[in-house]
Amino acid sequence: MSATKIIHSIPSDPLTGAISVPVYQTSTFIQDAPGVNKGFDYARSNNPTRKVLEDVVAKLEGGDGAFAFGTGLAAIDAVLKLLATGDEIIAVDDIYGGAYRLFTHVYEKLGVQIRYVDTTNVANVANAISTKTKLIWLESPTNPTLKVSDIEAISKVAQQVGALLVVDNTFASPIAQQPFSLGADIVIHSGTKYIGGHSDLVAGLVATKTKELSEKIKFIQNASGGILGPWDSFLTIRGIETLDIRYRKQCENAQKVAEFLLKCEAVNDVYFPGLATHKNHKIAKKQQNGLFGGIVSFSLKNDTVEAANTFVTATNYFKLAESLGGVKSLLCHPPQMTHASVPRARRHKAGIKDSLIRLSCGIENSDDLLQDLENAFKKIETTQVAEAL
Ligand SMILES: *Cc1c(COP(=O)(O)O)cnc(C)c1O
Repeated sequence: MSATKIIHSIPSDPLTGAISVPVYQTSTFIQDAPGVNKGFDYARSNNPTRKVLEDVVAKLEGGDGAFAFGTGLAAIDAVLKLLATGDEIIAVDDIYGGAYRLFTHVYEKLGVQIRYVDTTNVANVANAISTKTKLIWLESPTNPTLKVSDIEAISKVAQQVGALLVVDNTFASPIAQQPFSLGADIVIHSGTKYIGGHSDLVAGLVATKTKELSEKIKFIQNASGGILGPWDSFLTIRGIETLDIRYRKQCENAQKVAEFLLKCEAVNDVYFPGLATHKNHKIAKKQQNGLFGGIVSFSLKNDTVEAANTFVTATNYFKLAESLGGVKSLLCHPPQMTHASVPRARRHKAGIKDSLIRLSCGIENSDDLLQDLENAFKKIETTQVAEAL
């Protein structure tokens, strides 16, 4: 969807002509007679501000519907509630840490089996499926090593056993990737990240391809009640107005940062799908609209937690914090932060080294970001020299 279409998919208020979407801060709606209303009866079931957000996101993803939740994990949880005991999920192995925790520590207990496979090789998915497989769960690119899976090829594997293909599209955003056009059935977003874009809210979104799935997710949303409130719905809508321009700038900054890191003495591996050296560069180029995202991860030659700690506390513009996708650049150390709930052995298996650092590039001037990183590398050098003396 073009920037023009995105901006103008957000309606002005038909009642007053207000150009921005009103915040309907209300719990209930007056009825003319029992069951006779203006389309809204109770704010868990529906709210006009949330409805605008949901309609805009459905259009952004090109789906039948979309549903807004209090956080990304609440959105993921709503999709998992489609399952019953005995069902199986095949999930990408370096899945978001919070999703791993929910799958393994909540849903496995309820009798749902989860198999984690390296989905960058379609054969691994084909080998793991069975008639019990109900969901295939992808993130592409993944967090934090930015693996990219072939969504279209995996959708064909899902169809063989009638499983639904779910794509967590948080990292690509609807600007870079349209999973429905590649065969996905459900698209997830942590609205907290690029869609919100200003590090000022938490939100989650589920977009559905078919009417049948829309009805099921709508039912779960109302039954479980993990909805997004009107104020955060408003902020998320406001974020979407600038999503296109923000995301493109973040991609541009990330490309420059990745190329800079490649030349740094202290750096071991650089993970960024926009580099020709990235092992999934080809498929990323094919399915991501020529955009490779704003996240860059790297590991240090001195592959220790201590070296990573020195680096992540030495930057000025890159602020040390969880989360990503906002206008301000952030950095984090996944082994101690976002992925602390994933056991070390599993982290290593997924390629998350002890010194792995994740950068979320904001929309600052790229020269300032590069200078900031260079200063932090100098700090590591002087720390190492001091320790050697
Ligand atoms: C942050 C994130 C989530 C969880 O979203 P919250 O809004 O933090 O609950 C899920 N998936 C991915 C890829 C994320 O980055």
